Amino acid sequence: MDRITIEKLHIYAYHGVNAGEKEHGQDFFVSVTLSLDLYKPGHTDDLNDTVNYSDAAKLIHSVFTAEKYDLIERAAAAVAEALLDRYPSVDSATVRVDKPDAPIGLEFDTVAVEITLSRHIAYLGIGSNMGDRQAYIDKAVSMLGESHGIAVTAVSSIIETEPYGGVEQDPFLNGVIEIGTYMPPHVLLDRLHEIENACGRERTVHWGPRTLDLDILLYDDIRMNDKELTIPHPDMKNREFVLKPLAEIAPHIIL
Ligand code: ADP
Ligand code: MG
Repeated sequence: MDRITIEKLHIYAYHGVNAGEKEHGQDFFVSVTLSLDLYKPGHTDDLNDTVNYSDAAKLIHSVFTAEKYDLIERAAAAVAEALLDRYPSVDSATVRVDKPDAPIGLEFDTVAVEITLSRHIAYLGIGSNMGDRQAYIDKAVSMLGESHGIAVTAVSSIIETEPYGGVEQDPFLNGVIEIGTYMPPHVLLDRLHEIENACGRERTVHWGPRTLDLDILLYDDIRMNDKELTIPHPDMKNREFVLKPLAEIAPHIIL
């Protein structure tokens, strides 16, 4: 991947745990590496085909000084998120914050943190079989799209399907949603649970009726399995109501 870098942008700001740091401020140096494809601007010679580093530097400055944070981790993450939000062509942003005058009381050159945020593609299964099913699905899709750090990039047709898993209940509406996100998988799952709760989800019977179910089917080509999360979703290959809508919006995917 090609890169644009800005090194040691000098910014006076007020981040720090100590009250004195928030009152008097100090020097910070912010370095940023943006990964993106530069083939096109490398041939068109057109500023509109790339990230204008002067605009990016101003954005970094304004985000970095907008708040007084305790941690430079937080300041670095805010800058990385703002860069990914502003520039759709950027695949990942690495932000390093140097704090050479940190109150340590020993002699040192600098302390720094470095944070990388990357865009990921995830496929979500959505289902509802209680109440106004289509309204819950519509609400969930719009809540997803309004979530900071999530962009909805495709929604499949919504199909009606018979219940699965042996519990006697009403038919479902099911579909699959493609999103772009820089949330890590567990943070994404927490957000999905918030949206389920906002749509009146109550967890009573396993595989039982629900106003809204949102599952992570795929997240890039990650494979993981822990207490909260199994990706790819372990049962997706047995569920036609997942495979059909998935094949509609992502026919290139090989499971
Ligand atoms: P189901 O979707 O199987 O009907 P629930 O929606 O009640 O069941 O989910 C139960 C738990 O499954 C969630 O709290 C979550 O921790 C776990 N889980 C494991 N893998 C996934 C996944 N890929 N997507 C969503 N939830 C998952
Ligand atoms: Mg679920």
